[in-house]
Amino acid sequence: MATINSNYLKLKAGYLFPEIARRVNAYAEANPDAKIIRLGIGDVTEPLPEACRAAMTLAVQDMGDRASFKGYGPEQGYAWLREKIAAHDFQARGCAIDASEIFISDGSKCDCGNILDIFGHDNAIAVTDPVYPVYVDTNVMAGNTGEMNDKGEYGGLVYLPISAENDFVAEIPSEKVDLIYLCFPNNPTGATATKEYLKAWVDYAKSHGSIIFFDAAYEAFITDPELPHSIYEIEGARDCAIEFRSFSKNAGFTGTRCALTVVPNTLTAKASDGSDVELWKLWNRRQSTKFNGVSYIVQRGAEAVYSEAGQAQIKALIGFYMENAKIIREQLTAAGLAVYGGINAPYVWVKTPNGLSSWDFFDKLLQTVNVVGTPGSGFGAAGEGYFRISAFNSRENVEEAMKRILDKLK
Ligand SMILES: *Cc1c(COP(=O)(O)O)cnc(C)c1O
Repeated sequence: MATINSNYLKLKAGYLFPEIARRVNAYAEANPDAKIIRLGIGDVTEPLPEACRAAMTLAVQDMGDRASFKGYGPEQGYAWLREKIAAHDFQARGCAIDASEIFISDGSKCDCGNILDIFGHDNAIAVTDPVYPVYVDTNVMAGNTGEMNDKGEYGGLVYLPISAENDFVAEIPSEKVDLIYLCFPNNPTGATATKEYLKAWVDYAKSHGSIIFFDAAYEAFITDPELPHSIYEIEGARDCAIEFRSFSKNAGFTGTRCALTVVPNTLTAKASDGSDVELWKLWNRRQSTKFNGVSYIVQRGAEAVYSEAGQAQIKALIGFYMENAKIIREQLTAAGLAVYGGINAPYVWVKTPNGLSSWDFFDKLLQTVNVVGTPGSGFGAAGEGYFRISAFNSRENVEEAMKRILDKLK
């Protein structure tokens, strides 16, 4: 008889977003005239940049001509895209990353999960709390955890709490961990990491033989020139870090799908016989076997991000969302709330007022001003008492939502 991967039964059945939908739908049914504004889900709202659309249109034409038609591309991505990424995103910032170390994919979410294919099951794994749930759930699926306790924590994971008390940057653990997930600028808190802070992690990782998974999905939202965009801006990171990047948030590719993972060819981890194995080789083998590359058309669209027009257009796009974030920050502050993030990230992280739980504040916002956000407790136990508001929306919706909050909640 066929059996299942029982690790899936340990998952808490996608609790957060379905529960939000359930409460919003129940409210909307009981109040059919309510104009509900959703500032919850972290998806972009504005159209694809013109430069990307034009490049994809040309690529479609290429596919219609026998001479320029493309079948399977390289599993690692086309060299012309990898070279632009290496030059623009890494070498221009002083990071010695070569195009051959960049792997194009259909998403960072997928890569964050798939990367576990090349690691053993006996690693001690650290995540922050709150955290992007993908890091945790993919480890549960891979069998790297025990069962979940009543606090929603899985046995076998090391949770590093982040809150206003530590400026939302986790303390470096005293115990030894082998794999560490870091996300900066952070989803959900909007927090950032300084070079000094990342240096401390790189030093830790190098002294313990650990690997850092650095998720830089929001690097384009950094406005402070002092903050690092890549972990490879830190000396030594080539020997201890894998970086994930995506076109989803900077260029609005959430529905178009293109991302990249950097695996330096100097990076190694231990085989069971104690020998060092190059992770680049394993990831290349994994991708060549289980992946057949991103569509030629989409890669041409991503390439256009690096054109002069593309750069100007994504700058405007990011500027638009960051103006939303500024409005949210200012208005919520005026409404008397303590707000974090939203300066170098498209998320504003709010302390719930009067000691309300995350879900109580969710209900209050939904019922009194018809605004939907995301309860912080949905990202982990230490997110309790916080709430995430996303800047991904139209200006009109953001202004209307903030006006209602200021009018009714102040
Ligand atoms: C949106 C997001 C990504 C990007 O995922 P894609 O699969 O590339 O769309 C990665 N990490 C975090 C934390 C995100 O919020």
